[in-house]
Amino acid sequence: MPRARIGVMGGTFDPIHHGHLVAASEVAARFELDEVVFVPTGRPWQKEGDGREVTDSEHRYLMTVIATASNPRFTVSRVDIERPGFTYTIDTLRELREQRPDAELFFITGADALEKIMSWKDVEELQTLAHFVGVTRPGHVLRDMGLSDVSLLEVPAMAISSTDCRRRVAAQDPVWYLVPDGVVQYINKYELYRNPESSQE
Ligand code: ATP
Ligand code: MG
Repeated sequence: MPRARIGVMGGTFDPIHHGHLVAASEVAARFELDEVVFVPTGRPWQKEGDGREVTDSEHRYLMTVIATASNPRFTVSRVDIERPGFTYTIDTLRELREQRPDAELFFITGADALEKIMSWKDVEELQTLAHFVGVTRPGHVLRDMGLSDVSLLEVPAMAISSTDCRRRVAAQDPVWYLVPDGVVQYINKYELYRNPESSQE
């Protein structure tokens, strides 16, 4: 049997939006992936110390489940939210690899995340665990950053960020069509992002 081809889409997903979903869907089609696993972070180390508390991980996890539920190839993993301490991609990939020793992993990142990748923990080992796929994102230049195993892919431009979605909710502006309908309803139901402090980057 051929090895399963599994995409890994890591993110804070605070909240998940159509930029994330289009990126995952495009990479899945282009790289003939069997599945894309969305992995909401626990405590993201890059976002610590910038004054903003990341939303409770159960809310971020459930919004990710709601947003991906209708796609038979999309799944959501709790590995990062259940691991104590900061989230490092190296730990995510090690754990997913243990869970699926026979699969080929494709780690998906937007251009902004790829720009920072050389500062990530254990960047050498990272590349032994997964292929890297960098996707275009409006406002950022997509470059290979000297990684040994990276593919660059142009995806439909979605000028959407979670930061902007949070700001919009705080300002009572609509987020319809930026995030899936169920996520709009979830945000309203639990009154997320109403406080302007939550909307910082
Ligand atoms: P924030 O504004 O809180 O940083 P974000 O919109 O950047 O949120 P993240 O959860 O930080 O979302 O991103 C997860 C991954 O998805 C990253 O690799 C990021 O580059 C990628 N990504 C996010 N938005 C887009 C987009 N609009 N187009 C392409 N890739 C994206
Ligand atoms: Mg981001």
